Amino acid sequence: MRLKRNSRFRLFLYITGVLFILTVAFVLSFFYIHTSVTRNLDTHIYELPFQKGTQHRVVQGYGGLFSHQSVAAIDFAMPVGTPVCAARGGVIYSYRDKSREGGIWPRYTNRANFIIIRHDDGSFGCYWHLQHKGVLVKSGRVEAGQVIGLSGATGQVIRPHLHFSVKNTLNYKKDSFVRAKFNTTRGVVLLSNRVVYERPVE
Ligand SMILES: [Zn+2]
Repeated sequence: MRLKRNSRFRLFLYITGVLFILTVAFVLSFFYIHTSVTRNLDTHIYELPFQKGTQHRVVQGYGGLFSHQSVAAIDFAMPVGTPVCAARGGVIYSYRDKSREGGIWPRYTNRANFIIIRHDDGSFGCYWHLQHKGVLVKSGRVEAGQVIGLSGATGQVIRPHLHFSVKNTLNYKKDSFVRAKFNTTRGVVLLSNRVVYERPVE
């Protein structure tokens, strides 16, 4: 009887241990595993989409498992109300700033406030999840580095952040996206998940 109880206890420990390891591996996979994204790579060098001398952490990179499957987009963690700057010059193509809604559920997918800038080569810069009334430039030309809006948490989000992507065509097909290198205090780089990047002062 005692032996039987011991072996049951061992089995319990074994199953608990396996479940624990599987759970940890599952959670870690969201940080370290990513899906493949487009091979498109822009020759233009982008400015980080926030103010000079400030820094923000990338909380989801290209192909991230949370919401960037096959999507070449970057999420920068950013408190609501942080000034968002144009990463590249162009003309305001479209925007929305009426939404007050945001949250983790899929029903919020189309509730994000945003700005889309059309670059001179025909590609688009997309700035998502801006705060209510967070669009500061609604038409005309903007220069790289100019403040264009205020970040927020509208649309489908877990936490306040800025979602930025470059696209050749405005849809979510893998090759509509373009990867971009950014000018950072770490040099001109493709951005990696979990890394904090600072926009150089000069
Ligand atoms: Zn995103």
